[in-house]
Amino acid sequence: MPDQNELLTLLNRFTKREHSLDEVYLFDLILCDNEIDRDGDCFSAAALEQLRDRFVGVTGIFDHNPRCGNQTARIFRTELCSDPGRKTKTGQVYRFLRANAYMVRTESNADLIREIDAGIKKEVSISCAVGKQICSVCGANKLRKPCSHIKGRIYSGTRCYHTLDDITDVYEWSFVAVPAQKAAGVTKTCGGACDPEKEAMQSALDAAGQLLDRLTEELRRDVVRLCYRGGENACAKALADSTVHMDADALLALRDSLRVGLAAANAPAQLMPGQAGQKPPVQAFRLAPAHRSEVPYAKS
Ligand SMILES: [Zn+2]
Repeated sequence: MPDQNELLTLLNRFTKREHSLDEVYLFDLILCDNEIDRDGDCFSAAALEQLRDRFVGVTGIFDHNPRCGNQTARIFRTELCSDPGRKTKTGQVYRFLRANAYMVRTESNADLIREIDAGIKKEVSISCAVGKQICSVCGANKLRKPCSHIKGRIYSGTRCYHTLDDITDVYEWSFVAVPAQKAAGVTKTCGGACDPEKEAMQSALDAAGQLLDRLTEELRRDVVRLCYRGGENACAKALADSTVHMDADALLALRDSLRVGLAAANAPAQLMPGQAGQKPPVQAFRLAPAHRSEVPYAKS
């Protein structure tokens, strides 16, 4: 790491006028690393290098402390470091992104500087956008093609986590109380109007919802048929009509009980000789017109 004077030279490239060491407060922080964080995500080696390049010049905020108002600090140097003696959960050499930041000393940030010096505000969160979120189990990019694997669960001996790759933007960094990454504190937000992860999740949810609607409608028709299996009467009609208000769970339960009832009703007939191959009356299978496809369940 460069000494204080070398750091001052570096930071003065980001200021409108030259500052002296007395005027600025210099501190360093760990922005992120390659360990799996609390959210079950980790950065790829390439992503760490991209973050190293992109975070130079980025402003940090201290908005979690009302006393600090809108005070900001700025990163003027970054470096990727590694700890050969330490391995991540995935068996890689531990690597982390260290940053040097500065604040211009003022009366209003004196308390904040004391807190940083005391180690109170040492945890950092970063916001960035990623283009890839790779599932450790199947290799799918969850932002493009969501898979069924859930972070933290184990599939055939492989724990599911997401590797964040292809950094497309960095937004800010800030001091936070509880960071996502244990060592440094990282939250990954995709920011802006478009959040690819949320969009992918939403479209997967929509597709699953549409499939459930179709299956529920099929089930409802089956149940209506079963209701009339014993013949058309007021009781069968009332039961068939009531399926309009049933969800998939209720329909499954009703279908099962109708099947049990029909099986019991048909059992003696099967024991009677000469009737095994006899077809039931046609009427028993006729569906009343009111219960055909016009049943209003199609979702727009
Ligand atoms: Zn997967």
